[in-house]
Amino acid sequence: MYQTNESKKLFFEAQKTLVGGVNSPVRAFKSVGGTPLFIKKTEGAYIWDEDNNKYVDFVGSWGPAIVGHTHPEVLEEIVKVAQNGFSFGAPTKRETLLAEAINNALPSMEKIRLVSSGTEACMSAIRVARAFTGRSKILKFTGCYHGHGDSFLVKAGSGVATLGLPDSLGVPESVASNTLVVPFNDPGQLEEMFARNKDQIAAVIVEPYIGNAGFIKAQPGFLPFLRKITGENGSLLIFDEVMTGFRVAFGGVQILEKITPDLTTLGKVIGGGFPLAAYGGKKEIMDMIAPLGPVYQAGTLSGNPIAVAAGQKTLEILSRAGSYTHLSEVTQNISSLLVEEGKNAGFKVVSDSAGGMFGFFFSASLPKNFEEVKVQCSQELFNTFFHAALREGIYLAPSAFEACFVSLAHGSSELLTCKNGFRKAFQALAANNQ
Ligand SMILES: *Cc1c(COP(=O)(O)O)cnc(C)c1O
Repeated sequence: MYQTNESKKLFFEAQKTLVGGVNSPVRAFKSVGGTPLFIKKTEGAYIWDEDNNKYVDFVGSWGPAIVGHTHPEVLEEIVKVAQNGFSFGAPTKRETLLAEAINNALPSMEKIRLVSSGTEACMSAIRVARAFTGRSKILKFTGCYHGHGDSFLVKAGSGVATLGLPDSLGVPESVASNTLVVPFNDPGQLEEMFARNKDQIAAVIVEPYIGNAGFIKAQPGFLPFLRKITGENGSLLIFDEVMTGFRVAFGGVQILEKITPDLTTLGKVIGGGFPLAAYGGKKEIMDMIAPLGPVYQAGTLSGNPIAVAAGQKTLEILSRAGSYTHLSEVTQNISSLLVEEGKNAGFKVVSDSAGGMFGFFFSASLPKNFEEVKVQCSQELFNTFFHAALREGIYLAPSAFEACFVSLAHGSSELLTCKNGFRKAFQALAANNQ
């Protein structure tokens, strides 16, 4: 009999001292209801909770676990590196090697700065964009998440949407008013916004494929249009590839779609499960950052040797022949299973994927932006399905507005678990719906 009593007990205790019992809001299961699972160990494609339930994991720590959890080669590497110390606050050889590996895969990142979180990377990218252009406004898209920097907490998708906070309290109006927001995949509104803010927009920041409003790809022509309109208006184009970087391909969406952004932010995969992120781009822009230039940005733990080693080894494993073919094949299979098994049980399910990430919606057609997600996709059906899948040993992202992630460790055995598990979960959903 499936039960999660230990997690319930731990969550109760956690709430006494930790805000909401968690250290990042989406972990609280508030969107899907119920109690979050407390995880005690991971291996390959699997996670175990404190009640010893085993799940095929499609969260992968929200992306970083792309080579599979607790990969033996990564583990060996970080143990080796840790023996020489945990943090030096001085440069190390490995930081250059990681930056070179990133630059080889993403040539648009001519110069790079390593930081400790995606939030930090995006905040810093905006700062240097403002300095470089001498402009204050930034433009983002509804449903895109760029971390919790003040400027970004305007129509920011997943975690924020999940909690029903349109914005966050504590963000001064003077800051929020410098953030313009338009719907994704809507060139007309973008054009209008540029016309109304002539010579004021420092940068457009975008998740080139959105992973924080469910999974939504850019429609053909949209990213080239974005490149064109930013160029014509003297605004920088920032690709936030914190989620898509080394996830959709070796490199990112910019490689798949052949777009050269001015700046790029990375995180998640490049830290291999440790706190590591990066921003980088055109040399003349990045050279404005201290110690070379007047834009200040620093970090005590930036380029931490253990995080860098985990990132290096993760990228090395990913660079091996066949990695992304495997990720894509398994991901497409999972994606099709959801649509098929949903249909067999009488539900309209749509799904899309790229490399090792996918999303699905209870909807008749794929939404093209967050506005459409909100009107045409059922969150209620998702929530019930989410819990039914847990009972079948499948751990999906605990929100209808999140993408799911596959790792190199996911294969035929996990596909079989999913085929049976999804079928039963959709059947339970159908029974529940009568
Ligand atoms: C996760 C994410 C961030 C924030 O990264 P953190 O490391 O959580 O601060 C920023 N942008 C995108 C697209 C993300 O998915």
